[in-house]
Amino acid sequence: MNNENNTIHEFEFNLICEYFANMKRQGPGSPEVTLQALNFIDNLTSQSLIADIGCGTGGQTMVLAQYTPGQITGLDLFPVFINIFNHNATQLGLQNRIKGIVGSMDNLPFREKELDLIWSEGAIYNIGFERGLNEWRKYLKTGGYIAVSECSWFTKERPAEIHNFWMENYPEIDTIPNKISQIQKAGYIPVATFMLPENCWTEQYYAPQITVQKTFLKKYAGNKAAKEFIALQRYEAELYRQYKEFYGYVFFIAKKTEL
Ligand code: SAH
Repeated sequence: MNNENNTIHEFEFNLICEYFANMKRQGPGSPEVTLQALNFIDNLTSQSLIADIGCGTGGQTMVLAQYTPGQITGLDLFPVFINIFNHNATQLGLQNRIKGIVGSMDNLPFREKELDLIWSEGAIYNIGFERGLNEWRKYLKTGGYIAVSECSWFTKERPAEIHNFWMENYPEIDTIPNKISQIQKAGYIPVATFMLPENCWTEQYYAPQITVQKTFLKKYAGNKAAKEFIALQRYEAELYRQYKEFYGYVFFIAKKTEL
């Protein structure tokens, strides 16, 4: 890669960060859904260690912290998100219990069998569902929990447009029964599975983007990368509106067993 390309790349990267940093959430979800998933976790005490992997600016982490005892580490690749995360934690007076750190989910800074709970909303796809389940397992105590949300197919077949979109963007998308069998194969007992309601996408994720998109297009008027990026976000939202009966986010909660 030459310098010119590097600069373009960096600009796009910063653009994406700036866009998503402006939002409470960087993926579909809601405080209600976080609490619903949390209801299945029964092993937490004030000594518990929890990791929220791919935490973004920490929308769900703040909810978790308000309803669980123990210490929470939020980890994300993007320093911009982690700065906002730690700022929000302080604002809420939670800075003694939650800490945001920059890191990568394929090289976690935890010790083996140290965690009671691994949380990850709308983020495990970055490493891949199966790889994440397998690699993160070693950090959990036996009997510890993993709770992840993951984009899944709701039907065995689907229209070509949406099928092709996901094959290009995340070919590991699969049906719920197949995801559950991957969980079992990786050494966990599936504890609960539920589909996220539509408002997690429409109200919580896409609606806040509308204002951000307008501001962005004004701020970066004439900028091709910004225009293309916004067009892609809008296309993704339109696909969801059109094909939501065929796919969506699903919460999977599972407990580590000895293999
Ligand atoms: N959990 C948040 C963010 C979901 S978006 C929410 O639900 O709102 C996915 C997040 O994964 C982004 O914040 C992105 O920065 C982060 N991410 C992407 N690749 C990563 C990696 N390799 N390691 C850690 N975080 C990563």
